[in-house]
Amino acid sequence: MVLRPTPQPGILHIAPYVPGKSGATGAIKLSSNESPLGASPKAIEAYRAAAEHLEIYPEGSSRILREALGEVHGVDPERIVCGNGSDDILHLLAQTYLGDGDDAVMSRYGFSIYPIVTQAAGARILMAEETDYTADVDAILASVTERTKIIWLANPNNPTGTYLSIAEVRRLHAGLRPDILLVIDCAYAEYATADDYSVGLDLVAEAENVVMVRTFSKMGLAAVRIGWMVGPEHVVDALNRIRGPFNVNLPAQLAGAAATRDVAFTEKLKTYNAQWRDWLTAELNSNYMQVMPSQANFVMVLFPDAHHASAAFAALLERGLVVREIGNSYGIANALRISIGPEQAMRGVGGILNALAEIS
Ligand SMILES: *Cc1c(COP(=O)(O)O)cnc(C)c1O
Repeated sequence: MVLRPTPQPGILHIAPYVPGKSGATGAIKLSSNESPLGASPKAIEAYRAAAEHLEIYPEGSSRILREALGEVHGVDPERIVCGNGSDDILHLLAQTYLGDGDDAVMSRYGFSIYPIVTQAAGARILMAEETDYTADVDAILASVTERTKIIWLANPNNPTGTYLSIAEVRRLHAGLRPDILLVIDCAYAEYATADDYSVGLDLVAEAENVVMVRTFSKMGLAAVRIGWMVGPEHVVDALNRIRGPFNVNLPAQLAGAAATRDVAFTEKLKTYNAQWRDWLTAELNSNYMQVMPSQANFVMVLFPDAHHASAAFAALLERGLVVREIGNSYGIANALRISIGPEQAMRGVGGILNALAEIS
């Protein structure tokens, strides 16, 4: 054996994250759940203006951004931590609360970053079975062990698009020991329309063991990389001790603050998305394809088997529509995840998949 640096235990067992494909030039990318309408024009303007002062370090706590978020979402800016994307926040939470010998619990088809951040911190990830591709509160509670420190819950979830009502989230919280941190990852909150959905800020305010994590990536600023978290004071304090001192760059802070205040744009996104999500869901439901009802800016389409899903992926790709295969990263080999995008792309997806259904 040659002597060489060795990664910490568990690191080499991590399956690397698989990003959505981009396809050839001119292809339409429906594989990464990006905004169907681009970014807020006000955010773009703020980003450009920031280019004038690239020589200066950003303010390290993202104060400008936290104040905008606090104002628009009605939370104390002192309870907010910002990150270089919400992935940054998820890593910080894992580094802070997980270590060797600990467990984190997620649901079977939960977001694929959770196993990565958990194992990177030296802990073990436990999977709770789902019911109809939806997180199952009883199964999650039954998976908890004495060593469990974190529950990762994406609500709505990626890649399934399904969600838990706030009553179910509260039932989950009520069943947890107070020393277990419940992480509610609301990456798609801007798109959720169900009456019984809530991001759970009331629960965060009442409890000492709940945090809500959000991102700007799905609302038009994926390239800029901004995530944020609201949590109890003691969690905020702990994260701030290990957070990179300048983890959110200045153009991102300014663009994020402008996007936050541009509530009309966020509303426009939500309306557009709901319209085309409903349209695509109705259009694709047949004996051949089943669309999971989605609260996000994508739908998961189930095909009779993996072979049919691959054929559908290839047929869409050939016509310049790049969607996401979720067999490798999520183990749902008979499904494709399709982001809501421009109208023409949605009509293209509908036409191509319905034509396939007819010949199958
Ligand atoms: C996209 C996504 C994120 C990560 O977003 P970034 O802010 O771009 O790191 C987090 N959670 C879920 C469930 C997501 O789908």
